[in-house]
Amino acid sequence: MDLQKLTRPNVWQLKPYFCARNEFQGEASVYLDANESPYGAPYNRYPDPLQLQVKKRIGEVKNVSPDSIFLGNGSDEPIDLLYRAFCEPKEDNVVAIEPTYGMYRVCADINNVEYRTVALDENFQLSAAKLLSACDAHTKLVWLCSPNNPSGNRLDEKEILDVIKGFDGLVILDEAYIDFSSEVHFLPLLHNYPNLVILQTFSKAWASAAIRLGMAFASPEIVGILTKIKYPYNINILTQQHVLSVLENHEQVRQRVADILVQRDWLHKNLLKLSFVEKIYPSDANFLLVKVTDANTIYRTLIEKGIVVRNRSSVALCNNCLRITVGTPEENAILYQKLATCFEFLKK
Ligand SMILES: *Cc1c(COP(=O)(O)O)cnc(C)c1O
Repeated sequence: MDLQKLTRPNVWQLKPYFCARNEFQGEASVYLDANESPYGAPYNRYPDPLQLQVKKRIGEVKNVSPDSIFLGNGSDEPIDLLYRAFCEPKEDNVVAIEPTYGMYRVCADINNVEYRTVALDENFQLSAAKLLSACDAHTKLVWLCSPNNPSGNRLDEKEILDVIKGFDGLVILDEAYIDFSSEVHFLPLLHNYPNLVILQTFSKAWASAAIRLGMAFASPEIVGILTKIKYPYNINILTQQHVLSVLENHEQVRQRVADILVQRDWLHKNLLKLSFVEKIYPSDANFLLVKVTDANTIYRTLIEKGIVVRNRSSVALCNNCLRITVGTPEENAILYQKLATCFEFLKK
């Protein structure tokens, strides 16, 4: 893979904004370099633009070198920046599995980049050969998501590897739900594949969707390109402080994931008792994709009862499917009870 050839020429040549905090990174006693207010510490100061302390801690927890970590305002930021760094509008294209997370397409549309889809099979599995045959000389990015949203399953490891090995652009593997899966993580393989970008997030298992912090793991060269084009202070100080405390509660996160997995099994077992539930797809995530007889009616009636699930009925391969997030034991019991009492009239 030739990274320069892959990168948009304007981005490759770009001289990024050089802020006061980039220029001076040591400790001083008097800071008069950034036109900040001298009052109101600590929030009067600009945050570290490179988030070095946070990356060091994440690197320790994930066993990754800090220079292979890019941090964004949610995963949404690296998703968007990957288009802006590598895809020439109206010229280049990307290839994604279908169905999958909606932001890959939205960011393609915003950046005026052609978005090609390759359908997963009826078990939501990936065929590397089929996906690679949709790529051409203008394909810069391939989007994979495992465990996948909205289907919940992991993509076959061998097929993922065949895509990574067979494609000479970047393969983005979104692992937003990886903490709920007991199977192999791709992070230890990062060094073997210079065209691999792995996305993870603090929004799901780490219980921190509100602070907006997403991670992209990639070669230091790719991280450098994303860093060059990001807003200088993209991760605010409140987020940087909060995530450091979250990372100290590693054990609590592990325990909550274990609790959620127990609840996922409970929901799975009980929802299957309902006559209008036709199928529950196997899940490696914190949600279940549930095929019912009439998704629209069930969705609307649940809303009237104050319960919101995600209606995925209009999504490819998801006809009459609801995506249900695993909640607390109380929330799951309320959902089950409402479904059992309200919908027994909806016979198969
Ligand atoms: C929830 C989710 C994310 C997380 O996005 P953030 O911007 O980090 O909150 C990323 N990818 C997928 C597939 C998701 O479902």
